[in-house]
Amino acid sequence: ERARLNRLRHTPSVTLDGQSVELLANIEMPRDAGAVIDAGAVGVGLFRSEFLFMNRGGNLPDEDEQFIAYREVVEALKGLPVTIRTVDIGADKPLERMSAHELRHEHTLNPALGLRAIRWSLSEPEMFGQQLRAILRASAFGKVRILIPMVAHLSEVHRVRQALDRAQAELRARGVPFTDVELGAMIEVPAAALMLPSLLRYFDFVSIGTNDLIQYTLAIDRADEAVSHLYDPWHPAVLHLIAQTISQANALGKGVCVCGEMAGDPAFTELLLAMGLRSLSMHPAQVSSIKQRVLRCDARALSSYLPTVLEADAPQDACAALMRQR
Ligand code: PEP
Ligand code: MG
Repeated sequence: ERARLNRLRHTPSVTLDGQSVELLANIEMPRDAGAVIDAGAVGVGLFRSEFLFMNRGGNLPDEDEQFIAYREVVEALKGLPVTIRTVDIGADKPLERMSAHELRHEHTLNPALGLRAIRWSLSEPEMFGQQLRAILRASAFGKVRILIPMVAHLSEVHRVRQALDRAQAELRARGVPFTDVELGAMIEVPAAALMLPSLLRYFDFVSIGTNDLIQYTLAIDRADEAVSHLYDPWHPAVLHLIAQTISQANALGKGVCVCGEMAGDPAFTELLLAMGLRSLSMHPAQVSSIKQRVLRCDARALSSYLPTVLEADAPQDACAALMRQR
């Protein structure tokens, strides 16, 4: 069994009809980088950088500390891409150090709809600048990509671009080396999925965060037991948003990945490939089972049943339509 898994690790991830499928890994801390290589993933599709900021009693990492953490991952990946997501703090991932604004509203806001992710970064320009400079500095040591969480407005995109330009100018003035990095957006708010072509004028790639996309499309807090049974990735509205995002990004020649839980669930592999997806990012422990799925898929045959699945008007019908094709 060990020999078989070792062979699988080095087997390229290609469908029966010869389509390459990029399998990337999600990490939370630099120490997870070894598991990415061991799993046979071909890069980091999602580095949840907020984990560097959490559980430290409000003492947040400065530019140098972040740079060292990012460089550690980039060097461990030896030229494979490392996608660093800027802090996705707030909601289920609170910071000990809260701003005056958050403290004022602590008891009135719905945290999932509040100051989180890129909204938080844009409200903390000093902190955001430090993070962007740290990421840019790590780009001198390998292939780095920046991923922005919870994008919902074009104005946010413009402010991110300005912050990135400023970070580059500051490093240039300091004589610190960095390279060009691709900029990507998480598609995890329905608004972003519904205006994808506009967003793609400013981004090099997108990554679909299905965990939040499902939560915000269905208005279901998964942690709320009273409604969690309604949190359903098979909901036709969710499947439509995912399919549309993949096909529009493909049509515009921009990279598209899925980095939410659906990417690591073998029940969805065929469906995502049928939608045209060729890049998935998941927990390192899931890479081998997803690769086994990919190796048994015929992507061309799969795409013919996609309309039947998307036409289903209830989650169980979409799931059943897929099962009938097996
Ligand atoms: C997602 O929302 O699917 C995602 C990948 O981001 P996170 O789980 O960190 O919110
Ligand atoms: Mg998310």
